[in-house]
Amino acid sequence: MEKIIVAGAGLVGSLQALLLAKKGHKVDVYERRSDIRSNEFVGGRSINLALSTRGWKALEIAGIADEIRDISIPMYGRKIHAVNGDISFQSYGKDEEAIYSVSRGELNRQLLLKAASYPNVGFYFDERCVDVDINTNEAAFQNSITGEVSIVKAKQIYATDGAFSAVRGRLQRLDRFDFSQTYMTHGYKELIIPANADGTHKIDKNALHIWPRGQFMLIALANLDGSFTVTLFFPFEGPTSFESLNTNDKIRDFFKETFPDALPLMPTLIEDYHENPTSSLCIIRCNPWNYQDKILLMGDAAHAIVPFYGQGMNAGFEDCSEWWRLVEEYGQDWSTVFAEFTRIRKPNGDAIADLALKNYIEMRDLVGDEKFLLRKKIEKRIYEKHPHKWVPLYSMVTFSHTPYADALVIGKKQEAIMDRVMELENIAQIWDSEEVEQQIIAQL
Ligand SMILES: Cc1cc2nc3c(=O)[nH]c(=O)nc-3n(C[C@H](O)[C@H](O)[C@H](O)COP(=O)(O)OP(=O)(O)OC[C@H]3O[C@@H](n4cnc5c(N)ncnc54)[C@H](O)[C@@H]3O)c2cc1C
Repeated sequence: MEKIIVAGAGLVGSLQALLLAKKGHKVDVYERRSDIRSNEFVGGRSINLALSTRGWKALEIAGIADEIRDISIPMYGRKIHAVNGDISFQSYGKDEEAIYSVSRGELNRQLLLKAASYPNVGFYFDERCVDVDINTNEAAFQNSITGEVSIVKAKQIYATDGAFSAVRGRLQRLDRFDFSQTYMTHGYKELIIPANADGTHKIDKNALHIWPRGQFMLIALANLDGSFTVTLFFPFEGPTSFESLNTNDKIRDFFKETFPDALPLMPTLIEDYHENPTSSLCIIRCNPWNYQDKILLMGDAAHAIVPFYGQGMNAGFEDCSEWWRLVEEYGQDWSTVFAEFTRIRKPNGDAIADLALKNYIEMRDLVGDEKFLLRKKIEKRIYEKHPHKWVPLYSMVTFSHTPYADALVIGKKQEAIMDRVMELENIAQIWDSEEVEQQIIAQL
């Protein structure tokens, strides 16, 4: 049997390897890093992400959803921390709808372990893809310990080697291959709220905590060990920026003034601030996502987006479930499967990139704004009364399988309707009236 290569065993690569194995293919997975299967906490720190409906679907197909559910914490809404100490709660969806906080390292480890339980999967760690010959479909891997380069021939190469994909780097040299890369002016730094002495959480673990402050924000997601991973999204340069917070006093004073209720929860703030890197955020778009029936770009290798909709990994997992659906439909007709993958997934990748960027403004700026909260209240009411006519954009993106591109279009229509509704006189008083409801419904 001709083998298939998966280049990059991160979240998407390890899931894709699992799906390929389930379909009976002989798969060899090459990963630049060392084997994380024996490490309990990858890198010593627990970094988490939000898993939602699209991601769960792919995990269900792979047969690993139950194991991941066991290591996930549901978050039913946002807890907004105002500067004056007020805390308000906004639910994300209906009833039990939640997004799930899960450790990136543990999720990756479980996916690798599950993939390794198939006899038709082989793993090669410390092997960095350095080149691909697109004519022969041979990939070159360099071992980071010995320096040795091996050449491996494959029927197909799945490029899941992340935002700075080496495989995509080779495709970028092809005629008519589109590529763009845009860095944000904001970066991020991960900090920590440790657990209480008895291992319990210091704040509500079942919510995503946000400290929105206009041009920047702090967020916190719970970990199973009682701690929270806190992320500061912040400008690199400017009067209030990573560059300007250059002494311990300035860091402490800034947190005291800006995040007064978070500071006492963060006893190691100063050490963490210095020790943890300041990382950049980048949006990457490219086209096409396939090269003939030989190479397929998936996950961040195809579409790196900003993290503000909590959808990067979910979109990558949806790549996997959509690949599965196409294989179910077209079988071994790989030319069709790969071409259809680009045709269907590329507009959705572009749409979630746009949505994620827009959500940054919502998260850092609007979630504490009265008018915005009223809008959300009106939308929620319409959704509850007319669930088949109006599904809020956040719910479409997070709790449905509506293609991202469709969600973007519907969301724009909804926004225009809500802009008009918010212009109504006395909207704050009549927001839950029959009149407002009918106006909205009439415009749909
Ligand atoms: C701060 C932050 C918060 C986020 N939060 C969320 C969230 O809440 N929800 C969500 O859905 N998404 C979130 N994301 C996005 C998510 O992290 C990514 O979309 C996801 O990790 C993409 O998975 P991937 O497997 O495509 O790429 P990666 O996770 O980057 O994995 C790529 C793998 O390939 C390996 N590799 C790289 N180059 C090579 C090479 N040349 N040869 C061999 N191997 C190679 C790497 O070592 C790595 O293991 C967040 C991102 C950031 C930065």
